[in-house]
Amino acid sequence: MQQFIKKARELLGERGVLHEEADLIVYEQDGTLAIRGRAYAVVFPRTVEEMSKVVELAYIYGIPIVGRGSGTSLSGGANPVKGGVIISTAWMNKILEIDLANEVAVVQAGVINDWINSYLTRMGYQYPIDLGYQYMADPGSQRVSTIGGNIAHNSGGVKCFKYGVTVNQLRGLTIVLPNGEVRRIGGKEFEQPGYDLIGLLTGSEGTLAFIAEAVVRIIPTYETTVTIIAKFDDLSAAGRAVSAVIASGAVPVAMELMDKLAVEAIESGPYAAGLPKDAEAILLIQVEGSPPGAAEESAKVAEVLKKSGAVGVEVVVDPAIAARIWAARKQAFGAMGYVGPNYVVEDGTIPRKKLAEALMIARAAGAKRGLRVANVFHAGDGNLHPLILYDERKPGEREKAIEAGEEILEACVELGGTITGEHGVGYMKRKLLPKMYTKEEIELMKAIKTAFDPKWLMNPGKIFP
Ligand SMILES: Cc1cc2nc3c(=O)[nH]c(=O)nc-3n(C[C@H](O)[C@H](O)[C@H](O)COP(=O)(O)OP(=O)(O)OC[C@H]3O[C@@H](n4cnc5c(N)ncnc54)[C@H](O)[C@@H]3O)c2cc1C
Repeated sequence: MQQFIKKARELLGERGVLHEEADLIVYEQDGTLAIRGRAYAVVFPRTVEEMSKVVELAYIYGIPIVGRGSGTSLSGGANPVKGGVIISTAWMNKILEIDLANEVAVVQAGVINDWINSYLTRMGYQYPIDLGYQYMADPGSQRVSTIGGNIAHNSGGVKCFKYGVTVNQLRGLTIVLPNGEVRRIGGKEFEQPGYDLIGLLTGSEGTLAFIAEAVVRIIPTYETTVTIIAKFDDLSAAGRAVSAVIASGAVPVAMELMDKLAVEAIESGPYAAGLPKDAEAILLIQVEGSPPGAAEESAKVAEVLKKSGAVGVEVVVDPAIAARIWAARKQAFGAMGYVGPNYVVEDGTIPRKKLAEALMIARAAGAKRGLRVANVFHAGDGNLHPLILYDERKPGEREKAIEAGEEILEACVELGGTITGEHGVGYMKRKLLPKMYTKEEIELMKAIKTAFDPKWLMNPGKIFP
């Protein structure tokens, strides 16, 4: 490590290498508050070349390496659970090119998701995994998380029901292999022959190679968006209404569900938006199009919601009010502090038709352990986010919350879903991988890992049980 630090400093300068205890404490956690891990050093390359050289150094000394964008991972993905060196992309933060003719943007891995749209909005364009319309964008962490982290986790968000997830937005990648070699995959063109390496690397959680740069698709923004809020006095009715809207042929951009506890948390904080606190659940839906198209679609959705048991439906056309409502939704996780000191957030998917059933299971998994569960999630694509509240000052509660989360994810698999929709397997869910795959399938994944990373240095302790 001393040799590594000395050489990394020669390469990146004094400020480019942190290794004092006080600095390292800052990197002990990511967004997963239930675990901690200490790295020996954190390094900050600025370019593909610097990243390549510092990764090669770690390879020579056989040091484990963990990629870190902004550390918002909710599965412990960016946590250095086995020590080693953190490669931060915080200084690789440049938008390199906007190419409207090819409808792509070329960005460094450390660019914050939301920056792309802040830049594109004035051109009438958007990066579709983050809509430039006010702050109604995805993923929920878009003002903080990086494109590299989004790619490593194949992140989704409120709008992926219509636009797909991160992998659907990628045309090309520049990657650094664990031995420091640089490879360019894809480019600005639409289709690549041969194996889909972009697909393989997207969602690989920093266990195969580092993402250094990406070519992402950009598209023109629609003229008008309309938000619809529906209030339900029964959580399962709200779950069933989601399926009814989709079955009607409507294609909303976003469909988010929040239950009573989630609304209580939001309305207790600075982002309160006047959401109905007496509702058992609310559905927040956004449609888009030309002005008449959006009006027609929103009227259709409102009608279906009424027929599906909504006790109140409001169509919001004022962009300022809509922006406030979506900002409130975005702050839901942070607002949980108003209803409980700690939480574990889970992330599973289920076939949409099973939404109501899954929500009841999530509540029961908490209740039988004396814990409350709030739900706020991307209902359109059946991506659940139960937030299991606990108090770490009470002995055993943290463990109970983790156990409840695992029980919910196992139920998701039994209902025909998966153990993660967008947060990755990371450290927290590695035990659950065998619930999804056979031994042979996991061996196949390990063989792929070995082909990229023969020394298994990249993000050790993640994905595999
Ligand atoms: C409030 C909140 C809301 C959220 N909402 C959503 C949401 O709506 N949708 C969603 O999908 N997620 C959401 N997340 C989870 C998280 O923001 C995403 O997983 C995000 O993509 C992580 O980006 P990051 O830059 O913080 O990456 P990090 O947390 O730093 O890293 C995530 C993973 O990527 C790896 N990694 C990071 N950079 C690189 C790189 N350049 N090359 C290779 N590997 C790398 C890390 O090792 C780690 O495994 C939310 C999180 C929070 C805290």
